[in-house]
Amino acid sequence: MRVVRSVAQLRAALRESGPGGVGLVPTMGALHEGHLSLIRAARRDHATVVVSVFVNPTQFTEAADLASYPRDEARDVELAASAGAGLVFAPDAAEMYPEGFATSVSVRGAITETLEGAMRGSAHFDGVATVVAKLLIAAAPDSAYFGAKDAQQVVVVRRMVADLGIPTRIVVCPTSREENGLARSSRNTRLSPEARTRALAIPGALRAVQRAVRDGERSATELHRLATEVLAGAGLRAEYFAFVHPDTLLPIEHVLGPTLCAVAARVDEVRLIDNVLLDPAEAPAR
Ligand code: AMP
Repeated sequence: MRVVRSVAQLRAALRESGPGGVGLVPTMGALHEGHLSLIRAARRDHATVVVSVFVNPTQFTEAADLASYPRDEARDVELAASAGAGLVFAPDAAEMYPEGFATSVSVRGAITETLEGAMRGSAHFDGVATVVAKLLIAAAPDSAYFGAKDAQQVVVVRRMVADLGIPTRIVVCPTSREENGLARSSRNTRLSPEARTRALAIPGALRAVQRAVRDGERSATELHRLATEVLAGAGLRAEYFAFVHPDTLLPIEHVLGPTLCAVAARVDEVRLIDNVLLDPAEAPAR
């Protein structure tokens, strides 16, 4: 396992790598089983796996969230190696945003204006698109691995890669969950034990919606009402609980085809997101 801190070192290391291609797993560190599942998927596809660890300041819209973001590089390096990564790219902010940095990759339209874009502002996805573009240019991987947990991020990255003609295959891996259903997230470490229990209402609401769709419910209004009830049972109120088209992210009123059901909610001060893909074809309406 090698840790490199500059793009030049990263490229030099990759030039020495043998056949079998390169897989890139972009992360902000504080690695957990969700990240490791991406690394393992990359290792199944490619001989060389690069994990980037960079807490990207430009995608944070709250200073407190950035300041409290967990960081433990030594642990990250060990975990990345255990899952099969050969290289960790851990640049500092000056390497990614050198003096005079003035370029931004901005993906326009509904896919960045809704959900996370509406809540966190347009700067969030500008920050994501710019850093992912820089990482893809730096590592020039054959494939890059992203988690379905950040479904909107995947839609934005796919658009950006297609629009800019970046020759990297985007691979999406399923959301890794704790046994109790909570989606794994670096932010979970900031939950108190009591908050962690209340946070279970988030996957609980998603499961309730899945069950209702399986039982024939199609109305987004009705499904929203059901989810709100489940969340309220734990004293939570969603920032959004939305039913949208999985590619365009435009709102859907009736779940008649594959529909992304996405939620963001704060548990105490910790903002959590989660989603499931609803597929009514799995259960025809009665
Ligand atoms: P982050 O470090 O939170 O920026 O996440 C880095 C990558 O890991 C992103 O592609 C995330 O979607 C993915 N990821 C984070 N949590 C999970 C999870 N629970 N399951 C699968 N992928 C995840």
